[in-house]
Amino acid sequence: MTHPLYPHLLAPLDLGFTTLKNRVIMGSMHTGLEDRFYNYGKLAAFYRERARGGAGLIVTGGISPNRQGWLLPFGGTLNFLGDVPNHRRVTRAVHEEGCKILLQILHAGRYGYQPFVVSASSIKSPISKFKPKALDAAGIEVTIASYARCAKLAKMAGYDGVEVMGSEGYLLNQFLCARTNKRTDDWGGSIENRMRLPLEVVRRIRAEVGPDFILMYRHSVLDLVEGGNTWDEVVAVAKALEAAGVTILNTGYGWHEARVPTIVTSVPRAAFAQVARRLRAEVKIPVVASNRINMPGDAESLLAQGDADLVSMARPFLADADWVAKAAGGRADEINTCIACNQACLDHTFSNKRASCLVNPRACHETELRYRKSARPRRVAVVGAGPAGLSAALVAAECGHQVTLFDASERIGGQFNVAMRVPGKEEFAETIRYFGRKLALAKVDVRLGRRVSREELLAGGYDEVIVATGITVRHPNIPGIGHPKVLSYLDVLRDGKQVGRRVAIIGAGGIGFDMGEFLVHDPKVPLPVPAAHWMAEWGVDPASSAPGGLASPVKPHPPREVWLLQRKTTRPGSSLGKTSGWVHRATLVRNGVQMLAGVQYERIDDAGLHITVGGEARLLAVDNVVICAGQESLAELMPAEGTTGGPRFHKIGGAALAAELDAKRAIREGAELAARL
Ligand code: NAP
Ligand code: SF4
Repeated sequence: MTHPLYPHLLAPLDLGFTTLKNRVIMGSMHTGLEDRFYNYGKLAAFYRERARGGAGLIVTGGISPNRQGWLLPFGGTLNFLGDVPNHRRVTRAVHEEGCKILLQILHAGRYGYQPFVVSASSIKSPISKFKPKALDAAGIEVTIASYARCAKLAKMAGYDGVEVMGSEGYLLNQFLCARTNKRTDDWGGSIENRMRLPLEVVRRIRAEVGPDFILMYRHSVLDLVEGGNTWDEVVAVAKALEAAGVTILNTGYGWHEARVPTIVTSVPRAAFAQVARRLRAEVKIPVVASNRINMPGDAESLLAQGDADLVSMARPFLADADWVAKAAGGRADEINTCIACNQACLDHTFSNKRASCLVNPRACHETELRYRKSARPRRVAVVGAGPAGLSAALVAAECGHQVTLFDASERIGGQFNVAMRVPGKEEFAETIRYFGRKLALAKVDVRLGRRVSREELLAGGYDEVIVATGITVRHPNIPGIGHPKVLSYLDVLRDGKQVGRRVAIIGAGGIGFDMGEFLVHDPKVPLPVPAAHWMAEWGVDPASSAPGGLASPVKPHPPREVWLLQRKTTRPGSSLGKTSGWVHRATLVRNGVQMLAGVQYERIDDAGLHITVGGEARLLAVDNVVICAGQESLAELMPAEGTTGGPRFHKIGGAALAAELDAKRAIREGAELAARL
């Protein structure tokens, strides 16, 4: 029966030998549970929840076919029989929930952060310190055989198929592009030779596993690097892959070393679906759209307009295991939306830590962080409806406690209300929407617009009081700090105070950078920024007329001249997220923001901001100085040390530690505390 809300998204897909129950793929996402310590029990629990939540098909994180292909030393590998029982735990869990699962075979090539790395040619990548050895003909044969053996073992382990990772600049992509393939033998030179390895891999896998096994190939349709493929080459490879036995073509955008962002929150939703559409017109097998698809409405629209046959989402399934079930039940407003921040997933992965999710700290911790019904329901007061308080209130209510949530503001969301005003951070509004809806469903008594006193809390009959009152902004002790041209970031982002044409920002942390982006945004460009404008700004040609789909970026028109300052002598922005900081820096550089480190603030007066930098006195003749110098904790509701009797008080989030005001920690602390009550 056709689904009334999402007729395309929730329609089955008949692949001939098997049927997918809907068009939603949980895409490959490295969790860290695949590696070294072989936490396959935890990995099985992680996938079981996603399978139960209704995904049509799951793709595992990247598993290497051999040691040379490791992403990291002792990375997840499937190359001998002894690995099979581990993988069976995963496939059994997923099948028991009525879902299908593919093993992703990922050979990192020169992206491997380990000493055994190999590639098409011996050219070091800018993101690994290890120079690869160029594979010789025998090494290529061994590599192809490793892929085929890995697929065979995957079949033995109960997988419904494999996905061959051919994009993002990994080994097969390295052979495919002249950028990294300088060979003069049968495996380099013409596109026919460069595609030989991917095609041989597909043919040998197909020969090994037979016809009734899903073989999805992730094809790089926009390399977004110099020396990438042209559109004609992309199409030629796709057609050859189809002929070689690929069942489904997934699409990949941008190598990891590309200087164009493809998944961070400022990338417009579904921006790359138009490229999948062009590919779909060239082949007969199903094509998958991916990247920055996070809500069912957008996914349904792109399928309905013929951009793709399926959608792949990885991070949205970290944020909400029940994404499909909620969509199917007409409860999209209950989806905990992935805000594409990368803070707890990719930033963790690239720091060699287990992945999780900023908005869902249970992700990859399913067996450790459990929200169980309490045997002793308590009366709980939560003060502060920012990320920490919202998380604590919701989890406490879901565990059966009777919860009252207070906030002095008229709105829930705390600092997220500020973040969502920053261009490119509009997704933060989704988290506020999610909590608002879920608190109502969990019957939390939400009392807004009034400051609650300690006396009221003591007299309220509560068993537990959770102080999540957040922060107050820090006002640095600079002569002239009271001058009318001085504004705090809250004055600008929350209260909408006007800012002049020339501006100095004091403090180059996350909020200083956000402020920079807010101040240089051209008011003529609507928000969220439309995909076409975003592509032009970043120099992306979706038609891929030039190699790699790169074009000359259009010049932005910032309405202000901005200086971003810090006292430290380190590079401004070095504290930002590992996988998103470079995007913020590049945006500000492109917009002419001048970043100064090692600054001493002397005074602020009518003339502007007087500083000393590199021993030289300078005047920045600015109209406004915006303070983004961090925060101080606000926890005055906490009782004095040694107080006995009354409710138990707890302190979480910014109220506990402003130095690391951090939504990831705040939400996790709230959830962990509430789960323990
Ligand atoms: P922050 O990252 O701690 O940065 C504070 C900035 O103020 C630093 O550049 C610091 O540099 C400066 N500063 C500190 N004390 C000062 C003083 N007394 N006088 C003058 N300058 C001073 O804090 P934030 O920018 O407010 O961000 C808070 C948190 O929000 C971050 O930790 C991050 O987790 C999160 N956040 C992240 C992002 C992102 O990654 N894009 C965006 C927004 C928020 P100097 O001491 O060198 O001067
Ligand atoms: Fe999405 Fe951020 Fe969660 Fe990663 S940490 S899954 S980007 S919300």
